[in-house]
Amino acid sequence: YINQYIKSKDLFPLINDMLIGVFGAKYSTIYIKTNNDYIPATPSEFSFPSIESEKNLITFHHEKEFIINSKTSIYPSNLHATPVFSCLGVPITVNNETLGFIIIQHQQKAYFSAQHATFLSSLANHVGVAIENNLLYNKLKETANIDVLTGIFNRRYFFETLHNTAQLDTQNYTIVMIDIDNFKHVNDTYGHLYGDLVLKTVSKIIKELTRPNDLMARYGGEEIIIFFNNFTNYTALLNRLERMRQAIETTPILDADVAISVTASFGAYIKYNETLSFKEVIAKADANLYLAKDKGKNTVYMNNPLLRNQLKT
Ligand code: GH3
Ligand code: MG
Ligand code: MG
Repeated sequence: YINQYIKSKDLFPLINDMLIGVFGAKYSTIYIKTNNDYIPATPSEFSFPSIESEKNLITFHHEKEFIINSKTSIYPSNLHATPVFSCLGVPITVNNETLGFIIIQHQQKAYFSAQHATFLSSLANHVGVAIENNLLYNKLKETANIDVLTGIFNRRYFFETLHNTAQLDTQNYTIVMIDIDNFKHVNDTYGHLYGDLVLKTVSKIIKELTRPNDLMARYGGEEIIIFFNNFTNYTALLNRLERMRQAIETTPILDADVAISVTASFGAYIKYNETLSFKEVIAKADANLYLAKDKGKNTVYMNNPLLRNQLKT
């Protein structure tokens, strides 16, 4: 059952649901150990309301299995909820390493026995393997989307994500293409490794000036593409791109014995109330990038959708 959901983002809630069903428990919470702290994995309505008190139980029992059969409610007195009287906690371990903890709480008095503990422990082993696979799977999936040199998304991810975006044809959005100026010269003069550092630094500068809703990726060698969803205000966009252009121009890129700054050219196309395919919009942004280069580089070039067909810098 668990292995079926290893790739799912809902893995932990699914396991919690299963434990609630199997033990007839009131609450089940899976804690993941990170930096010597325990964080509940995807808390739900089935999680115990007081994370702190459960964490205290884990520490109090030195991260070892425990059973509590209490005469009074295990809740801290300030919590108003259905009382629980029995509690079972087992560590989640893989290769002798503690990855987390499972704690389940029951409304009946003196409910949990040593057999329950053995059973939950053996389930915890499966959960441990599932957690490891799940983390590994998500990490792999993430690295497949990231460009190794720059740390930003790669071209494949960019297109995959946007092709899955519904109504791109009818939506208003902006595409920006950025290309570093005279990059061949940088490589030829200071070496390819310094060129790599330039590429990394420029990506970082631009990234810092984007917002969570923007999608930025490495488009080609030293070209970056940005998708601004529903961001079509000419002046606001020009200001943002100008800020990026200036930040690149004014940031010295430091290596052992080189400290120069580079410039970049920006071509943008605002798609506003018109029917164009995604490919056509990219081609228009690319054409504007070409015009920015033609005008002497280190320039932002874009269309103003309110003055259709008129280009402005
Ligand atoms: P322009 O101002 O017209 O853009 O001139 P340019 O020299 O930048 O010309 P172009 O864009 O054609 O040059 C791209 C160069 O980028 C060629 C290639 O050697 C270099 N390049 C592409 N990818 C990488 C990379 O990952 N690292 C380094 N160091 N260089 C790269
Ligand atoms: Mg270039
Ligand atoms: Mg180029």
